Amino acid sequence: MTDPVRTRFAPSPTGSLHVGGARTALYCRLIAHKHGGKLVLRIEDTDRARSTEEATRGIQRDLKWLGLHWDEGPGHEEVGDHGPYFQSKRLEIYDRHVQQLLDTGRAYEAWETREELDGLRKQVEAHKDTFRYHRRAYTAEELDRFHEEGRSPVVRMAAPGTGYVVRDLILGEVTVPAADLDDIVIRKADGFPTYHFAVVIDDYLMEISLVLRGQEHLMNTAKHLILYEAFGWEPPAFAHLPLIFNPGGSKMSKRDKAKVARAAAHEERERRGRQGLPNAQWSWLAETANLSQEEVVSFMNKEHNRSSVGNAVARVLGVELPMIEVMDFRRRGFLPEALLNYLTLLGWSAGDDREVMTRAEVQEAFTLDRVNTAAARFDLEKLRWMNGEYMRRLPIERLQEVLALYLEVVNSPMETTDAVRRRMLLEMYRQRSPTLSEMDRAARFLFERPQTWDPKAYQKHLLRADGVDRLRQARDRLAKVTPWTAEAIEATLEPFREELGVGMGKVAQPLRVAVSGTSVSPPIYDTLAFLEQDEVLARIDNCLEFLAQVSAR
Ligand code: GLU
Repeated sequence: MTDPVRTRFAPSPTGSLHVGGARTALYCRLIAHKHGGKLVLRIEDTDRARSTEEATRGIQRDLKWLGLHWDEGPGHEEVGDHGPYFQSKRLEIYDRHVQQLLDTGRAYEAWETREELDGLRKQVEAHKDTFRYHRRAYTAEELDRFHEEGRSPVVRMAAPGTGYVVRDLILGEVTVPAADLDDIVIRKADGFPTYHFAVVIDDYLMEISLVLRGQEHLMNTAKHLILYEAFGWEPPAFAHLPLIFNPGGSKMSKRDKAKVARAAAHEERERRGRQGLPNAQWSWLAETANLSQEEVVSFMNKEHNRSSVGNAVARVLGVELPMIEVMDFRRRGFLPEALLNYLTLLGWSAGDDREVMTRAEVQEAFTLDRVNTAAARFDLEKLRWMNGEYMRRLPIERLQEVLALYLEVVNSPMETTDAVRRRMLLEMYRQRSPTLSEMDRAARFLFERPQTWDPKAYQKHLLRADGVDRLRQARDRLAKVTPWTAEAIEATLEPFREELGVGMGKVAQPLRVAVSGTSVSPPIYDTLAFLEQDEVLARIDNCLEFLAQVSAR
């Protein structure tokens, strides 16, 4: 590899960004920037049935959220002279190159329909063999018939019948025998190129010098070498990243989410059945989840694993799905810095015991020779720990930004609070909550008055040991505090405690139970300050009234 190194991240927009894809984009960016080059974003939208605009937007949104900005690609067309960066806009380029291979006899038209190919495949597999497509000649009559039937041919690349050696910068040399390489389709019957073809043409024309992608593409690389050879092009360097597994050992995929959502839907259907509610088909689910019946039926029939459907089903049924896509982590309150740091270590290590590393440190230390060859296991607990580290370490201004991005994608009472109050919340919780969503949950009481009080808590801190009396006196003092700040509250309650000759807990706990309904909350002065004076007094009054009723019973 010679400098500068140009890499590309080339997602297919068939769903939102998977954490594995995010890791690929991250490593591509690190390597390119380390070697004075650029990261290109290319949208591989040649699968017309499965590519969507929404996914295209979503992938870009998720990359930006992570801070993985690309140097060339959508939105940066002016930077390089290698666009367009959407494969669907490059059809003319592919056609020209297909024609070149047809003209030189390296590629040919093949007329079999999908059904015919399936038939051939079944025959071969019945003999426990692997199906290979063999080129055959068509008679003039056959060709006439195909035209009459309105068939369109695909174009196939003639494999030269030799094996290929993939020189991988991570895995070393990998030999792929000729038997594994048949005549791949390069242009589909709909006129669109296949992935294999478009990827080679684009990597070459976009002057990509290092192709870095997941190990699931290793065998494909051999097929791509055939194409480079046919065009007489020098192939780029290749490196394949280890797969990412769930803690359980299975491949971490969107299917995991779909599975949990389906199980919950089946369970709910049974429950409805037992209650005599209508449960036929999935129309009840489609309706509550605000989806089309067709979408839900095909999802439940396992025809696809679309996360938009799985997520909506999970939301209405109140189940949590495994986190697989970047957006799942954002919704569950993870910080981009922490996820990125975690992904850096998922398949790579600095060679010492450093774990929490700044972007600059990672950029400095990153090299391909420290990328693992074996699959990586995703360890959610470790990510949570790391997130907690970033909650504590990030500048408060940055946390405020990330909180705003979190609030864009969840429903939370924090949405309507202003910047000053959001900052107070972050200061209160950054030490105690490892994720923003845990903070969100823990802070709910600040937005909703307690409707009921925890019996254990009020027995212990209020009904016993004169707690009610102390609460009443504290209320009177708090009513006079002005201005209502944590410092002023402390300056009032501290002398009060001293007068009583008790520890702070004897004053703080009754107050805490009164305003929160439970015996846990952030430091009492901050909690009271956040709630504001009228609200605190009202909550204390409600609690006192409630306790009077309890005592009267
Ligand atoms: N569009 C392919 C994918 O999403 C890209 C593979 C590659 O990097 O070549 O899997």
